[in-house]
Amino acid sequence: MIETKTNVTGLRCVKCSQRYDERPDLYTCPACGIEGILDVEYDYDLVRQELNKETLAHNRQQSIWRYLPVLPVGRGARLPTLQLGMTPLYDAPLLASELGLGGLLIKDDTRNPTCSFKDRASAIGVTKAAELGRDTISVASTGNAASSLAGFAANMGLRAFIFVPETAPEAKITQLLVYGATVFAVQGSYDQAYYLAMDAAAEFGWYNRNCAINAYLVEGKKTCGLELGEQLQDGMADWLVVSVGDGCTIAGIWKGLVEMQKLGVLSRLPRLLGVQAAGAAPIYESFRTGDPLQPIPANTLADSIAVGQPRNTTKALRAVQASGGAYVKVSDEAILAAIPRLARATGVFAEPAGAASLAGVMAARESGVIGPHERVIVVATGNGLKDIKNARRTVGQPFSVAPSLDEVRAALQQQ
Ligand SMILES: *Cc1c(COP(=O)(O)O)cnc(C)c1O
Repeated sequence: MIETKTNVTGLRCVKCSQRYDERPDLYTCPACGIEGILDVEYDYDLVRQELNKETLAHNRQQSIWRYLPVLPVGRGARLPTLQLGMTPLYDAPLLASELGLGGLLIKDDTRNPTCSFKDRASAIGVTKAAELGRDTISVASTGNAASSLAGFAANMGLRAFIFVPETAPEAKITQLLVYGATVFAVQGSYDQAYYLAMDAAAEFGWYNRNCAINAYLVEGKKTCGLELGEQLQDGMADWLVVSVGDGCTIAGIWKGLVEMQKLGVLSRLPRLLGVQAAGAAPIYESFRTGDPLQPIPANTLADSIAVGQPRNTTKALRAVQASGGAYVKVSDEAILAAIPRLARATGVFAEPAGAASLAGVMAARESGVIGPHERVIVVATGNGLKDIKNARRTVGQPFSVAPSLDEVRAALQQQ
C-alpha cells in the first residue's frame, strides 16, 4: 500500500456521534449498524494553510483534484485520469424573468465523463479502492452511480460488479456493458438491488461503493459545493436546488458549501431546496411532518430519484434544516415538462431527475417558498441522452419529408 497523508482526523457517526479512526473495513458505525452513517472529519486549520482564496487563485488544476487538501485522498494516491468537475455555471436570465426570479444559474453536471453528477463520488470510490490495494469494486444503483462506477473502474483498471433494477433505462445499462462491468439486472426494485449488492460485497469481498454507507463517496459529492463556493464567492445565490433520492447529493453539496465558508472563500450560504418526485417523496414527508421516515414503494419515471427507502435521510434532513431551506415534491408531468423548458432556455438537456430540480423551482415559486427576485442555482445532475424514451414523450414529431424542397415548403406552411 502507498503511504498517503491526508488532513482527515477521523470518522463520526451521524446517529450517536461516536468518533472512529479510519479503518479499511469500516463502512458504518459498528454500534448503530446500517443507519449509523459516518461522516469524514478534517483538521481545518491544516486544510486552510493549503486551501484558501490565495492558493485557489493560483491553482491551475481544472478538476475536483484542486480541492485535494479537503478530500480523503492522499498526495501519493493514484488518481483516475478522466477529466472531472469544474463544471460550468450558466446564467439563464430569460427563464429567470419568466419564473419571476432575480436570477437563475444552471450548474451543468450533465457533462461529466459518464454524463452525471455521480462521477464525483465514483472518482473517490475507485481511488480509495486502489489505495487499499483492492482490484474489485461493487455498487447497487438506480443507474447513474453504476454507469459512473463502471467508467471510472475501467479508467483505473479495476473490475466492477454492478446491481441495477432491470427496469433501469437502456442507455445506462448499455454504458455498463460497454465499460466492461459485470452486470446483474435485478428482477425487483432499486431497494432490493441495494440489499443484494450489500450481501454480495460482504460475501465476495468487493470494495463497496454504495454512497450512503461509504462515507468517502459523499466527500466526492461535496466537490460540487466546493466549486459553487469558489465560483460565486461573495455572490452566492439565495437558493440552491437539487433533486433528492437517497439524499447523498444534497448532503454532499451542503458539506462542500459549509467548508468553503469555513475556509473563508464563500461569504454566505444559500438555502437548500430539496426536490422529490411525488411518487417517491419519503424525505419530503418526513421533513413536512417531523415524523421518522416511512419507507414506501417508489413510483416515478425519474429513475435516478426513484428511491422508496432512502439511505441518507439523516444527513439530507439536517442539511436542509441547517440551511433554513425546504423540501418540495413535483409530479411526473411537471418533471417531464421541465426537460424541454430547461433545454430550450439554456441548451442543457437533462434527464428527468436532472430537470426535476427546475420543476421544483416552479413549484416553490407558486407556493411562495421561493420569493420574487430571489436568485436561484439549479443543479442539472444527469444528461438527457441517458433516458431518451421519457424525453421523447415531452416533444412533438419531426416532419417526415421526401428529399424534395416542395415537401419542406409544405411542412413550413403547416407550421
Ligand atoms: C443519484 C441522482 C440524484 C439524487 O442523488 P441522491 O444522492 O440519491 O439523493 C439526482 N439526479 C441524478 C441524475 C442522479 O443520478
